[in-house]
This record gives sequence, structure tokens and C-alpha cells, in this order.
Amino acid sequence: MAANKKLLFLPGDGIGPEVMRQVRRVIDWMDRKRKITFDVSEGLVGGAAIDAHGVPLSDATLAEALAVDAVMLGAVGGPKWDNPTDYTKRPEAGLLTLRKELGLFANLRPAVVFDALVDASTLKADVIRGLDILIVRELTGGVYFGEPRGITEIGDGERRGVNTQVYTTSEIRRVARVAFELARKRGNKLCSMEKANVMESGLLWRQEVTKLHGEEFQDVELSHMYADNGAMQLLKNPKQFDVIVTDNLFGDILSDEAAMMTGSLGMLPSASLGAPDANGNRKALYEPVHGSAPDIAGRDLANPCATLLSFAMCLRYSFNLDEDAKLIERAIQNVLGGGMRTSDIMAPGMARCSTTVMGDSILRELDK
Ligand code: ATP
Ligand code: MG
Repeated sequence: MAANKKLLFLPGDGIGPEVMRQVRRVIDWMDRKRKITFDVSEGLVGGAAIDAHGVPLSDATLAEALAVDAVMLGAVGGPKWDNPTDYTKRPEAGLLTLRKELGLFANLRPAVVFDALVDASTLKADVIRGLDILIVRELTGGVYFGEPRGITEIGDGERRGVNTQVYTTSEIRRVARVAFELARKRGNKLCSMEKANVMESGLLWRQEVTKLHGEEFQDVELSHMYADNGAMQLLKNPKQFDVIVTDNLFGDILSDEAAMMTGSLGMLPSASLGAPDANGNRKALYEPVHGSAPDIAGRDLANPCATLLSFAMCLRYSFNLDEDAKLIERAIQNVLGGGMRTSDIMAPGMARCSTTVMGDSILRELDK
């Protein structure tokens, strides 16, 4: 546990600052009502940093991110900074650098269905009511990074595009360990997904997860599933799962699939974790799944729930404040239950509220 709770706020672009403002209000509330105080610093990332410093992430901000216990990020990007020629000058490059420098190899994407939003899903209510699963995606290895890669001329006007899926045992074990530890704190059930039937990296994945299970996590119920079957099972009977661990490519697809079962982008949080230091503290970054939503930026329309739920994950995973995380999650659940809706989660017969009013309602609920 960190003695001083140091947080770096990177609101970023578009709706980022608007939704992060609501997190600030919850932090003030925690200080006042729960006597839990955070040491919050703020920095620029993405387009906001390009405007101020000419780069999407300054060395000073990176140093600060490396020094704190956790980073809370809003969103980056927008049409103003589209740069087709120089990738390093795009807002997204700031976020990628941050992830890389912090060594965030485990991406946590919960898929939780709030009772009040059951009808927002395309799946049948009984299939998803009460759904609460967590997908752990490997984030820094696999086919997106493996060498060799590239497009080459191979003669006769033919070209060849190559990517390579590579995983080492230590890469597999460190992300599997995160998943096992999370399963232990939840339903004690882990399903590992790969394609061990057709991929060597998938076979190694299955072997290493099985080995780690035997060595350290025999109390956790472990199953294996081919990722294509996993995609089907998620739609057919998602509640059979508790925690799912999978590689970068399959995790990219499966976490988006799981997300859409829950309704809106405006409700989806995420966490990215790195390796633990000598004291067991991990580098961590928390951010909503959605982007900067330039189409609604600056209009007090954005749903702040995804970012507030990301902060709840921050409390849980970086500061061991599970009870406070639950307070925030329950407040959001109750506010939705009371009929509060931002435009993205609107339903017929309900009144639309602003970002600020959603924040007001959540704070009022927290005060109860
Ligand atoms: P990125 O490339 O950064 O992921 P994107 O264009 O894929 O961006 P978003 O910026 O997330 O995706 O926006 C997609 C759509 O969802 C937009 O119409 C946006 O207005 C809407 N949206 C995203 N986040 C929210 C939110 N928090 N509240 C309301 N609407 C949102
Ligand atoms: Mg997108």
C-alpha cells in the first residue's frame, strides 16, 4: 500500500476534461466525507499537449506518470490534430508511449450489465441480467508487435504482408498471474482463451497457464477454451464466465464483443496494469473505453459514468479501497435506476440529463 496516494490526472482532449471533472468532484467528496485524501497533480496529454509543447507527451509529464501510484486518463485525439504524415505528432502516440513506458501489459475490461440498462443490450434480458465478467487482455506482446513484420515486394508485382505472433513463457505467466489473482478476489473462476489447436503460441499459452495454475493457483477453477468458441459462448451464455484471460489480438476482439453486450460506450471503464515493484505496487493507468467524442465535446452532454467507473477500478486495484469503489458503483447503479440518462443511454419516456447533472445526482447518491 502506498502511504501517499499519488494520482496524476491527464484529462486530454474532447470530452476528456468534462468527464474527468466529475472524478475530481468525487475525489473532493472522498476527502470531505470519507477522510481519504489523494495527492492529485495534473498534466497534458494528446492534442492538448501538442498545442502547449508540440509533442503529445512531454518528458516532464512522462516522468510524473512514472512517479505516481496511478494515472487517470480522460481521452485523446480529435480532428484538429489529425496528422497523416508524422505519426509521432498524433495525440494517440502520447498514449502509446505512456502505456509502453509504464510497462502496462495487462488490460482489464469489465463487462457489467446494470439492471436499469438491461434493455440497452441486443441480447435477451435473461441472458445478460446481472452479468459481471472481467476480460484480461495481454497488451504489449503478440501479433501486434512480433517480428518479423512488414510489407515486401516478392516479384511479379506480388507483395507480401507479414505479422508474427510471438509469446514467451514469461509474457504469458505475468498476465496469467494477474488474471488468477483477480479471479481469487472475484468468483474464483478463470477461463483462458487461445487457439492451441492451430497456433504454436496458443499451445505454449495453454501449457504455461496450466503450469502456473498447478504451481500457485490450484484453488482457482481453471478452464480452457478456443477463442472462436469463446466468442460464441460469450453471446450464448456469458454468465458462465467470471474472469477471462487471453492474448492481445483475441482480447482486442473479445473485449469489444463483451462490451457491446452491456449497452453503451459511455458506461465502459478499463484499467491497464504493469509489473509489481518490490512492495507489490503496480504501475497503472485507468481510462474509459470510449474516445474523445469530438462530435459532442464541450457541450456538457458526455456520459461521465465510464470515467467514474474507471476511477472505481483505480480505488480497487491501486489503493485497495474496495469499499469505496463499491460505493461509487452502487451510486451509479441507483442513479440509473432512478431514471437519470445522458443522451447515449436514453430510452423512450426518459428525460435527458447533462454531464454535470449526472455528476450532481451521483454525488447526491453518495451522500445518502
Ligand atoms: P477513438 O478513435 O478515440 O476510439 P471513436 O471515434 O472510435 O474514437 P468515440 O470518440 O468513443 O469513438 O465516439 C464514438 C461515438 O460514441 C461518438 O458518436 C460519441 O459521441 C459517442 N460517445 C463516446 N463516448 C461517449 C460518452 N462518454 N458519452 C456519450 N457519448 C459518447
Ligand atoms: Mg475507436
